[in-house]
Amino acid sequence: MADDSIAVVDLDRCQPDRCSYECANYCPPNRTGKECIVTRGEYYEDDEPYDGGPDQIRISEEVCLGETCGICVEKCPFDAIEIINLPTELQEDPVHRYGENSFALYGLPVPESGAVTGILGPNGIGKTTAVRALAGEMVPNLGDYGREATWDAVLDRYRGTELQNYIERVRREDVTIARKPQYVDQIPKQFDGVTSDLLNSTDERGKLDEYVDRLGIAPVVDQPLDTLSGGELQRVALAATLSRDRDFYFLDEISPYLDIGQRVTAARLIRELAEEEDKAVLAVEHDLAILDLLADTLHIAYGEPGAYGVVTDPKSVRNGINEYLKGYLSNENMRIRPDEIEFHEHAPRETAKSKPLIDYPDLSKSYGDGEFSLDVEGGTIYKSEVLGIVGPNGIGKSTLAKMFAGALEPDEGELNFTLDIAYKPQYIEIDQPMRVDTFLSSITDDFGTSYWKTEVANPLQLGRIMERNLDDLSGGERQRVAIAATLSEDADLFVLDEPSAHLDVEQRVQATTAIRRYAENHDATVMVIDHDIYMIDLLADRLMVFDGEPSVEGHAGTPQEMRAGMNDFLSDLDITFRRDERTQRPRINKPGSQLDSKQKKQGEYYYS
Ligand code: ADP
Ligand code: ADP
Ligand code: SF4
Repeated sequence: MADDSIAVVDLDRCQPDRCSYECANYCPPNRTGKECIVTRGEYYEDDEPYDGGPDQIRISEEVCLGETCGICVEKCPFDAIEIINLPTELQEDPVHRYGENSFALYGLPVPESGAVTGILGPNGIGKTTAVRALAGEMVPNLGDYGREATWDAVLDRYRGTELQNYIERVRREDVTIARKPQYVDQIPKQFDGVTSDLLNSTDERGKLDEYVDRLGIAPVVDQPLDTLSGGELQRVALAATLSRDRDFYFLDEISPYLDIGQRVTAARLIRELAEEEDKAVLAVEHDLAILDLLADTLHIAYGEPGAYGVVTDPKSVRNGINEYLKGYLSNENMRIRPDEIEFHEHAPRETAKSKPLIDYPDLSKSYGDGEFSLDVEGGTIYKSEVLGIVGPNGIGKSTLAKMFAGALEPDEGELNFTLDIAYKPQYIEIDQPMRVDTFLSSITDDFGTSYWKTEVANPLQLGRIMERNLDDLSGGERQRVAIAATLSEDADLFVLDEPSAHLDVEQRVQATTAIRRYAENHDATVMVIDHDIYMIDLLADRLMVFDGEPSVEGHAGTPQEMRAGMNDFLSDLDITFRRDERTQRPRINKPGSQLDSKQKKQGEYYYS
């Protein structure tokens, strides 16, 4: 008996009509006549409601021998079973369990008036579940899914803790909530109409005009929602959520599609809402530089996505992020990752010694009657370097990528190289009714080899989605398939436009490692356009900086060393970064702080 283990059966994957119950046939307790793995129909009484079909399996957690056995996990051809020994440090019962052999959530975040509480952790770890409980939309069952859950029981559990007051209010139905969804692309499917119709319906605090102005969305208020870009929708969604007059605001990722300047503005508006209006804000964010700026306290969420999740007690933001990067939570005495994520001040680059891949001349390109024009300063890109590309939205980064990819002709200057270029666009359209494995195997003969699995599939966590259809994937899954597809092409230059979008923080780290290692092992040259400073810092050898006036004219500088490039880029934004003493990670300085002023005076925007 392993009372500290849980068994999770993914009912979407369990297909008894396509297997012969090898899990049950090989299960050691079953073989000695015990009822460990049985069918649901056989186990539950006729009138007892249960999830799944009668032929699907249920696993008795009392009888199961735990992770060290794991025979059923190996036997199941559809990867439907997870048997997990919970960390022994985890002393408490779940806050909520969706049902037998379903996801279990441990711990809840603590919303605090006047403060922004951050949550940092992978997707599928129970953040939305926790918020649904805090919003009063679902009464958590404290792990006892067989009985009807009540707020009285929840209150008993949290009496004497920081959550007591809050839960009393939820019980009295005295908490109102506004939430910004994670996938803003879905908004036009839910609201038909013009942007201003949506926005005006939310103006409960008289702040809408200010938000529209500061978020720079005035030019799109008269447009139909379904004509807006991802970045515009994100800012509209933010303005709509923050304009409401509620007690509790839940923001599920503010950074996707926004450039750094827009992310910083959004973070400042949210902080003002909490501080000046004494509101409680809970924010999930995967861009660590922005999370650091945004939150007052931080909960780390860890566990096994889809199986169980633990929300820690609150930590200071600095410690929380540092512990997260180290992969070890001190208070909890818990290792959440085998390796530390390390930042280095950049060493002198090897690229100076490597051979040029392309020399390109000055280029220019304009659209229509010169509504937007881009000029590009010529330069050299070296073999096996990762070139980071940064700059605001609408400044011509994708236009340059398309010219390098041969998809667009420059008006002036000639690109006469004959390179094979693999290009991952920012908005990924792979909506074919084709399976992921069929799609990827059509791109590379290496598909399925152990080499390809180690280099591409494993770090991008493709294992569990190989059999899914491309058109059923979530944003993050689609992003990982698109990165894998691009890296699998036989090309000289790989251009990745915003690979961090929709990836959770853990997946960003893994994708960064995969891209970096791929470049090193294959002598491949990679250009990465991204707004996540941590990703750029970990990935790039050199930097190309864009400036100008978004949607009007853009200028692309010649590639330069990281330090000079970052200085160039951040001075335009008027933001300075320092490095955290303990982990060397970049942190945004408070505007007007001593360090901020000192670094600006010295012209050192990135390293003090
Ligand atoms: P996050 O917000 O961290 O991505 P969620 O709280 O949405 O995570 O989901 C955590 C896990 O709970 C997921 O694996 C999901 O499949 C599971 N889950 C969510 N809702 C239900 C439900 N109604 N019944 C069973 N499982 C669910
Ligand atoms: P970024 O990648 O930096 O966000 P883009 O290169 O996508 O910038 O776009 C730069 C500007 O050019 C934007 O104002 C955009 O609206 C405009 N633009 C992009 N493609 C076209 C096109 N095919 N026709 C007209 N304008 C375009
Ligand atoms: Fe049976 Fe548990 Fe072993 Fe699976 S892990 S085969 S359920 S004892």
